[in-house]
Amino acid sequence: MFFKRGKGDVFYYTSSLLSEHGIAHGFFTRHGGVSSGDFSSLNVSTARKDKSGNCDAPLNVYRNYVIALSCLETTPERAVGAKQVHGDVVLCVESGDGGKGTNPILPEMCGCDGLFLDETTTGVDALCVKTADCVPILLSSKDGKQVSAVHAGWRGTVLDIVTKAAEKFDCPKEDILCAVGPCIGVCCYEVGEEVYEAVKSLFSYKGMENLTDSMFRNVCTCSACSKKKANLSEINKALLIAFGIPEENIDVSGICTVCHEKEFFSHRKSGGFSGTFVSAIRRQIRN
Ligand SMILES: [Zn+2]
Repeated sequence: MFFKRGKGDVFYYTSSLLSEHGIAHGFFTRHGGVSSGDFSSLNVSTARKDKSGNCDAPLNVYRNYVIALSCLETTPERAVGAKQVHGDVVLCVESGDGGKGTNPILPEMCGCDGLFLDETTTGVDALCVKTADCVPILLSSKDGKQVSAVHAGWRGTVLDIVTKAAEKFDCPKEDILCAVGPCIGVCCYEVGEEVYEAVKSLFSYKGMENLTDSMFRNVCTCSACSKKKANLSEINKALLIAFGIPEENIDVSGICTVCHEKEFFSHRKSGGFSGTFVSAIRRQIRN
């Protein structure tokens, strides 16, 4: 179950599954930040353009990270964010990476869409993922000593990035908790045949081809039309279950970013002119 929380005018969602284990995290909405216009207001992208072709100011983005991360009692300097390239690489964060991707004067963690942090790393305690329709997934060991943040659009999803993140955990699979955050829902995510074929191919490889059709919905009922809508949240959940994580350890928000564009940034609903919102998770030890 997901619950909405607020701190001042900053609102974010939390998964009861993670909260029950004392793990600080949040799927932030677009509200409570300092950015304006198409980026209004808690935008964390310096790369996306508004309708005038301008990017948001790095100082705005930095201040937005300060605002969001303060809700998790940490700072941009103790957090890390990935550059995100729709790939399947999950990088282990190292001591000295603090501030990369969250403080705009430092470089982002390049060439990856997933981050993993364990207790050996010092100077870093939080991981961030930025999305606007793609799926943000936060994972943690039950003791909160290992955490991961994943960006999964359809390309990352069919590259099975979520399993690659889960494989990083050095604990029993029963001890991994997963929260699948707000993203474009099956209600709104019409896709091309290539997405269906890619999911079918991955599921076949994993011996779960029989589940393929349950991950899609037909756009219309006429037999001539083969257009489909994809359920990215459920595809990622199915991949986590196939990896061996118990279903009761996986919490799915069910919130569609397109249907709720007033609350979240949505790439599709905005016609491509939007910011991104941040989801973040904090490791439960400080060192
Ligand atoms: Zn929707």
